[in-house]
Amino acid sequence: MKRRGFTTSLLHADRLGKPEHGSLHKPIHTSIAYGYEKAEDLAAVFQGRQKGYAYARQSNPTVAAVEEKVTAMEQGVGTICFGTGMAALGALFLAFLRKGDHIVSSRFLFGNTASQLNTLEQIGVSISFVDATDAKNVETALRPETRMVLVETIANPATQVADLSRIGELCKQRGVVYVVDNTLTSAYLFVPRKVHATFSMNSLSKYFGGHGDALGGSITDTGLFDWSKYPNIYDLYKGPDPKQWALLQLRKKGLRDFGGTLAPEAAHTLSVGAETLALRMDRCCHNAQKLAELLAAHPKVAKVHYPGLASHPQHALASELFAKPGALLSFELKNATDTFPVLNKLELGILSSNLGDARTLLIPVAQTIFWELGSDKRREMGIAESLVRVSVGIEDTDDLLADFMQALV
Ligand SMILES: *Cc1c(COP(=O)(O)O)cnc(C)c1O
Repeated sequence: MKRRGFTTSLLHADRLGKPEHGSLHKPIHTSIAYGYEKAEDLAAVFQGRQKGYAYARQSNPTVAAVEEKVTAMEQGVGTICFGTGMAALGALFLAFLRKGDHIVSSRFLFGNTASQLNTLEQIGVSISFVDATDAKNVETALRPETRMVLVETIANPATQVADLSRIGELCKQRGVVYVVDNTLTSAYLFVPRKVHATFSMNSLSKYFGGHGDALGGSITDTGLFDWSKYPNIYDLYKGPDPKQWALLQLRKKGLRDFGGTLAPEAAHTLSVGAETLALRMDRCCHNAQKLAELLAAHPKVAKVHYPGLASHPQHALASELFAKPGALLSFELKNATDTFPVLNKLELGILSSNLGDARTLLIPVAQTIFWELGSDKRREMGIAESLVRVSVGIEDTDDLLADFMQALV
């Protein structure tokens, strides 16, 4: 069949799956359990010999439709969805790591991911946090027991860009599982498979759904890792095709056993939101570039972090890797005491902790989302005490710029 574009494929995926009554959307299936007429069929579904649904904690038709869309966007072999991005990451770590294993992680991380890794350390997984903007730092930290490398494409809030391609080469050479959190870019701006990632993770709560009205997370297996060489796959999940081993183990040991299930209602909301992912991304990246330029030229602003600015330390790297430099930026004012008054004067920019919404959202970082980590950890992660994060939305560009101009007066 003809290969269709990103948005065309998303818009027509449900209809082409032929749901009942010619419905254009995959229906919301609310049943938790499924009935079978023959015991043989029920047994075959449980044993994975026959396609079907058993209990909705581990699979549901509405959720499966979203999984298929994410797989297509990420160009992977399969995807498993979770109730949140954090549930996805937690399930991934618990399904594939054992006591004594080691992870090399970027130290520029989403705060709750950093906190989750601290919990893993308490149960016997050791972790090296490195500056992943240079693959050499990852290489130095590798040990014989390193099982995983974890990076984010663009880190939040200071927008460091990981050395994605070289880290991919390194992981490929060393046979290490490479996990890329693609949330800040989305599969529209960047496909981690192209830098040899093993798994692409997305918080669907952000740009994918795009309206701040449903939580979700996903893990996609890109199909590039040779699972027959990974020590932590249970014999139970070694079916005839090694490409399916990791997905099955993640579904059973991650999703089924820990229960971080995506609800079908949320799956539907996310799916509708995703139809405009490319349109929203184009608009919010355009707005982010304009706003970053405006802030960088403003006399009251000390610093702007945005990969689309030539002054950004990984500007060249970001231009090479991503279709666009994203829609998240952060800035510091020259006079830190002006920060809260300026934020309070914004009329369109909303003071809120989310990102990836269609609306522009701002948050002073050190006093809120990174408060719990303390000042030492914040310094290590490159987060200044006066830093403000802006998740740039899809408002009309002139309105957005005018709002910041009046607030900065
Ligand atoms: C939001 C976010 C997560 C966690 O996703 P939730 O859906 O909020 O649990 C993980 N990584 C990044 C980069 C995020 O922005």
